[in-house]
Amino acid sequence: MLELRPNCECCNKDLPAESPDARICTFECTFCSDCATTKLNGVCPNCGGELVLRPRRPAGKLARYPASTERVYKPAGCAATA
Ligand SMILES: [Zn+2]
Ligand SMILES: [Zn+2]
Repeated sequence: MLELRPNCECCNKDLPAESPDARICTFECTFCSDCATTKLNGVCPNCGGELVLRPRRPAGKLARYPASTERVYKPAGCAATA
């Protein structure tokens, strides 16, 4: 199951579970659409994998399977690939 991390690793923007702007790689490194497109060119700076649209969890399921609240923020990793 996806963690649904609450923020972008690059710019720390909030990415709630219902956000259409969240992008993830296969390890669930999580970025906003702006960073994924303009800074990272669709490639994860941590693993080199592709960044794709994060599927949204239906609201009714979030109560039982809540999104992660643990923020991951690594601005240095994003600067390296800019
Ligand atoms: Zn971002
Ligand atoms: Zn990754």
